[in-house]
Amino acid sequence: MNLTAETPLVELRGIGPVRSRELAAAGYRLVRDLLFHLPFRYEDRRSLATVGRVDDEGEYLLSGRLEKLSRVRLRRRGMSMVRGRLVDDTGELPVVWFNRPYLVDQVSAEETYLLYGRVRRRAERLELLNPTCEPAAEALHSGRIVPVYNALGKLGSKALRRLMDQILDHIQLESEMPDRLPSELLESYSLPSLATALVTLHRPQGEISVERLNERRTPAHERLIYGEFFRLQLELAVLRSLETRERKTHRHDWGEPTERLLGELLPFSLTAAQQRVLAEIREDMTSPYPMLRLLQGDVGSGKTIVAALALMVTLDSGHQGVFMAPTEILAEQHYRTLERLLGRRFNVALLTSSSPEQSRLRRELAAGEIQLAVGTHSLIQESVSVRRLGLAVIDEQHRFGVAQRRLLQDKGVRPDLLVMTATPIPRSLALTAYGDLALSVIDELPPGRSPISTRVVAGSSRPAVYRWLRRRLDLGAQAYLVFPLIDDSERIDAAAVSGLGEEVRELLSGHRSEILHGRSSREDRARVMSEFAAGEVKVLVATTLVEVGLDVPRATIMVIESAERFGLSQLHQLRGRIGRGSEPSTCVAIHGKLATDSTARRLEIFASSTDGFRVAEADLEIRGPGDLLGTRQSGVPLFRVADLVADREWLEIARKDAREILRSSDQRDDLRPLLAAVEKRAVDRHQRFAGG
Ligand code: ADP
Ligand code: MG
Repeated sequence: MNLTAETPLVELRGIGPVRSRELAAAGYRLVRDLLFHLPFRYEDRRSLATVGRVDDEGEYLLSGRLEKLSRVRLRRRGMSMVRGRLVDDTGELPVVWFNRPYLVDQVSAEETYLLYGRVRRRAERLELLNPTCEPAAEALHSGRIVPVYNALGKLGSKALRRLMDQILDHIQLESEMPDRLPSELLESYSLPSLATALVTLHRPQGEISVERLNERRTPAHERLIYGEFFRLQLELAVLRSLETRERKTHRHDWGEPTERLLGELLPFSLTAAQQRVLAEIREDMTSPYPMLRLLQGDVGSGKTIVAALALMVTLDSGHQGVFMAPTEILAEQHYRTLERLLGRRFNVALLTSSSPEQSRLRRELAAGEIQLAVGTHSLIQESVSVRRLGLAVIDEQHRFGVAQRRLLQDKGVRPDLLVMTATPIPRSLALTAYGDLALSVIDELPPGRSPISTRVVAGSSRPAVYRWLRRRLDLGAQAYLVFPLIDDSERIDAAAVSGLGEEVRELLSGHRSEILHGRSSREDRARVMSEFAAGEVKVLVATTLVEVGLDVPRATIMVIESAERFGLSQLHQLRGRIGRGSEPSTCVAIHGKLATDSTARRLEIFASSTDGFRVAEADLEIRGPGDLLGTRQSGVPLFRVADLVADREWLEIARKDAREILRSSDQRDDLRPLLAAVEKRAVDRHQRFAGG
């Protein structure tokens, strides 16, 4: 038998049509695929004991002949038992197997076997229970460091071990799985070739530490981890260059006079982090190539102000700007901010689907009379055109797809693009999910913010919480009450606005409260929000609608009901609505039954930290990358071996290397096959995004 990387698994011994369908369903079709199904654990079954040494319970590897094997009838139906004894030069030990009656016929009295299993004490006697049993000459499951695999369909660890053995015995791995990574990089980190790494991981041999294997910290593991990161980062670098390699057609003047103007516009001085980010943006906006930058910063860290300054530069240079937000409430809020800052010098307009005179606004935007348009999805409608777009800004970009981002960019000719997010994403995840964007981070809050203290309490404390809230309202406080549901549900055990929410409003009667959720009409929402912002409404009873971007500095209290229903990042987002003024703020999270440890852990972290990046790191550890960005559609590639949390140092290295390699790739013939593969994937991704 001669196997290649492309051999279908169905051609392997032990794989029939049924199994191969199961494997295909799990994503494994070819030998190549299966080779990347790595053991998740290793057991050290190397040290051979002798029967005479077995004096207590524990795991043992023993070798010897098997004698007096016989089936024993059991009363329980469907159960069978085989008894026998293992004999070596030092003594003999009883062995018991359940439900393996065939052993009696298979075992030969002359052969030496390796047995691995647990010795237990029963009625003062020691016996070996259900050990693995195989001829010592061809031991696969004992007598070595044994790889343990996650099952694939009905194929368990043992079956997979046999399959891997079959494959490795019949394949020329070095030629079948050639290593495409630049060899000088592998050498510089002392990493083995792909083939060597795979052999080591499936058949660990020689002086290799089982601990290192189990920690995924062998050079073989690191070769695969680095390789996965490197390929993706190379792909993202290619993708980025597809988008940014053509010169832009507009120019930004951003010299001393502009800096002075920015200084005059600002009612306060920028934090060090804001200054650093503005300098990064300036670098991009004055470069001949388009900016493609993601600005991350916790809620209230002052991203909008930075975006406003960048927009001012574009307007001052004679171009137009657009600013797109995910909801009308936010668009209106941003419009007010931008109008206040820029309105005296520039023509700023709000364009949403409820704006009056939309067709006039669109006409003026197309004619270049409106210099800055703030709006929602309305901005990317086909009927909207922008005469000379210099800078497009997208707020809360995770609410938009890449296709929508492209539509906005396409309103101009290679405009500069700044996307913002208040959902802090750990750097490792950002480099993966948004690796084609340049990253800026504001990691510092403006001065004068008061801290938020957070309490997490069980439902039994609810009466006390609302008594406390009432007292605070009596003293003039304003509060958000957040519920996961609008209506009570039979299926979901969680508090609802129309259920518990109404009871609570009753409880707080005398203080004006209003309800806000996804089914409220647009007019109601706008009215309630502005009355809450003005301090007329004291209590806002809402769903997560209040999550994004709302800025009401005088609201200092938030009570979150059924807090266990929310993800950690979402809780953090919600909490960001308070702590925006000079008064200290309090967030109380009331939870119901905590079904899992990770739920309890989530709330614990929530209570212990208000640092968005710290919270996001913890969330990534608990939930994994796909979930953190809102399930699989997030476009975060799932790695086979690499782990964004544990291996983030390799990610940084791989990113740097990938970018350098791409820069020098013109002179490197040896990189052709790798780049061809990567470019194909990058173009596919590019088109998929562009096509929506
Ligand atoms: P974000 O968009 O990141 O949520 P904003 O730009 O809306 O944050 O800023 C939040 C609040 O902080 C706003 O009221 C803004 O005017 C104020 N602010 C921003 N930067 C500063 C600063 N450097 N000094 C003082 N206040 C600031
Ligand atoms: Mg914001």
